[in-house]
Amino acid sequence: MFERLKAKLKKFTEKVESIVRKKEEQARAEVVEETAEETPKIAEKAEKTQETVREEEKAVELPATAAVSALEEREAAPPAVEKKRKEEKVEEKKVEEARKAEVGVKRKLGVKEKLKAVFKLEAFLDERDLDAALSDFEEDLLESDVALPVAEAIISNVKEALIGKRRKIGENVSKIVLEALKEALLNVFPEGFDFEEFVRVREKPVKIVFVGVNGTGKTTTIAKIAYFLKERGFSVVLASADTYRTGAVEQLEKHADALNIKVIKHRYGADPAAVVYDAVKYAEAHKKDVVLADTAGRMHTNVNLMEQLRKICRVTRPDLMIFVDEAIAGNDAVERARIFDEYVGIDASILTKADMDVKGGSAISIAYITSKPILFLGTGQKYGDLVKFDPKEFVERILA
Ligand code: GDP
Repeated sequence: MFERLKAKLKKFTEKVESIVRKKEEQARAEVVEETAEETPKIAEKAEKTQETVREEEKAVELPATAAVSALEEREAAPPAVEKKRKEEKVEEKKVEEARKAEVGVKRKLGVKEKLKAVFKLEAFLDERDLDAALSDFEEDLLESDVALPVAEAIISNVKEALIGKRRKIGENVSKIVLEALKEALLNVFPEGFDFEEFVRVREKPVKIVFVGVNGTGKTTTIAKIAYFLKERGFSVVLASADTYRTGAVEQLEKHADALNIKVIKHRYGADPAAVVYDAVKYAEAHKKDVVLADTAGRMHTNVNLMEQLRKICRVTRPDLMIFVDEAIAGNDAVERARIFDEYVGIDASILTKADMDVKGGSAISIAYITSKPILFLGTGQKYGDLVKFDPKEFVERILA
């Protein structure tokens, strides 16, 4: 599942790692070169300081006799001599202070040099370093079914997270890139949504309408959700509001029989809003927790169908409008999600056939384009093949 996106993310991480490695090697080489240039100067300065110290030490090391006579001289000294000696003392003090200051400067310089070297090694990436890698990455995202505006948003997030970032010595580069990608990808997802909790706390019956085109796995998904809810102790009734397609009612009934659930249906061609309305009335009368309504899966461009969906909304005021499409449809699914959202305002999406999806970008794209959460991924043809979608888990999985 999602192999292509995984591989492309890995490729980008490795590329950035190699850019960083190259940049650091370059910086290290520069530091070595600068130090080599500065070494003779530093050595020369150090040598001079040593000489001054030696001379001053010699001056202090007076022979004992000289020391005694100096003392005698001072005791018997007239005021002029005393004044001169004081002046000499002040001068000596100045020389000593200057010497100390020089050693101090030298010490500071040494630390500064070291800091400079470390700083250079820490310098991370600027925009120019990443330009080529990011433009390749954008293409790779597009190839993985990430829609253009979403790819652009991811790239901009990655840029923000990586540019100017400093690596602490010893910190792993791939960890930094992975963190940046994680942040960038998570940022394009809207807040997560706990479907089970929503159904639990909502006033009953909870009315859920499923929309989407034919053949994408909508009916199977409704059955999967019915199974999911039954497993968690909720009672369910189905509404067969696809009154356009012959065989739609039978298809839903087959699942309902298998799951032992009631289906509300009308004759072929009847008003779909009336079917959902009846299902809600049935649920109220029989204290059922949830109504799951199937709708006609005509093309999203069919204005009549969209009007029918609007009527269902007006008449029954669903608690949730869920868009269903297949992960393998890529940008077609993204476009359909956008149009359904525009016409009827979807609340969330479910992506089917994720088990067959090698690309992996659809979930990111649909979530971003509609700004609505992905609730589940369909991962097979059995009722239990429904996986709760969690953006964090998804991102960790594709970055693993
Ligand atoms: P509808 O026309 O949108 O109602 O689609 P159906 O529910 O009839 O599903 C169409 C086909 O897709 C059926 O063969 C389903 O078994 C299959 N299908 C549905 N969901 C999944 C899924 O998550 N994974 C796989 N592999 N197949 C699925």
